[in-house]
Amino acid sequence: MLVFVINCGSSSIKYQLFDMPARRQLARGLLERIGEAGSAVLTHRAGSAVLTHRAGEGKWILELDAPDHRAGLDHILRALVSGETAVIDDLSRIRAVGHRVVHGGEEIREAVVIDDAVEAVIERCAELAPVHNPPNLVGIRTARAVLPGCTQVAVFDTAFHHTLPKKAYLYALPLELYERHHIRKYGFHGTSHEYVATEAARLLGKPLLACNLITCHLGNGCSMTAIEAGRSVDTSMGMTPLQGLMMGTRSGDLDPAVLVHLLRNGWVSDVAELDRLLNRRSGLAGISGLGNDMRTLEEHMETNERARLAVEMFAHRVRFYLGGYLALLGRCDAVVFTGGIGENDSLLRRLVLEGLEPLGLSLDPEKNAATVRGKPGAITTSASRVPALVIPTDEEGMIAASTYELAK
Ligand code: AMP
Repeated sequence: MLVFVINCGSSSIKYQLFDMPARRQLARGLLERIGEAGSAVLTHRAGSAVLTHRAGEGKWILELDAPDHRAGLDHILRALVSGETAVIDDLSRIRAVGHRVVHGGEEIREAVVIDDAVEAVIERCAELAPVHNPPNLVGIRTARAVLPGCTQVAVFDTAFHHTLPKKAYLYALPLELYERHHIRKYGFHGTSHEYVATEAARLLGKPLLACNLITCHLGNGCSMTAIEAGRSVDTSMGMTPLQGLMMGTRSGDLDPAVLVHLLRNGWVSDVAELDRLLNRRSGLAGISGLGNDMRTLEEHMETNERARLAVEMFAHRVRFYLGGYLALLGRCDAVVFTGGIGENDSLLRRLVLEGLEPLGLSLDPEKNAATVRGKPGAITTSASRVPALVIPTDEEGMIAASTYELAK
């Protein structure tokens, strides 16, 4: 069965086509700049979106007119069936579409087949995820119109965290704010945490339900999850993906009174500027002044004090959550690193793990240095009481698997 996975953003569509249940990837790609005026894109002709399509060893970059998501999805589907980019002969071979949806609120606890009621829930949850849920919904509506014969499935970033206990998900605010307005921690990156937890259990040779794990998804967005007996019991992101660790451009945790102070003194003019400050101008970019890419910061950290500070702060926060989650779990079977930084950045992993022998984690510097993207494995010594594992994440593969299970 062919399963098409879509991750729809406000001006982009990321996609992968899988042959299931083998999870064989036939094609993947990204259409960017949907609906953007050509004048804003100096290097491209007016009105053009850019499709980067990969299949096998091939890679194509195509300029296309895509004034909206419908036109964008049409282009992508055409690329799958016609010309040199084609990987299948007929779109009717696609039997199911899996959609990544960021927020399912409290109502949705697992992947679901999409119907009008599910669409309505996603729409309601847009209040909690105003940047992400509306474009996710556009993707769903477009795919339902363009591929009407397919089973459409929604897989939610929040779903894996539906097992958080109340003591972990409530904020210490007046309880009415939770009861009336659903203000609580939801957690995100759930598909990634669940995937690497499942893979970790496999590597450990134990059922997931017997595993206590700490999973660290460190990419441009970053979150950590404490997993007890296979279930998420705490996670670092909150009501939105802003809470917790320091990220590429997001602040993560801070004293909420800072926000009051900034507004009261007029140092940010309004709520929109505050939102931009916290989500776009902070984190690694805000501290370093050199942008949000960890590779750039590490290249400059010997000579640039702000770059060094950003890297050290990032590692400090991960260590802080790691210590907290070790205490929450009591027994930990493994610490797992994933995401662009977690999978590749041996320096950062060393800064996080060095000196933790008293807590049972003994880093193996050679294994750590040799472990980069695509290579799962342990980076601790064989004597380490708690192994640390690097496991490349595969959110799209996981979405395809959930979609296949519901569609078959
Ligand atoms: P992701 O969001 O998971 O794709 O991760 C993206 C981030 O991973 C980038 O912004 C980089 O900061 C980081 N990254 C990717 N490769 C490396 C690497 N080799 N060393 C350090 N950081 C990396």
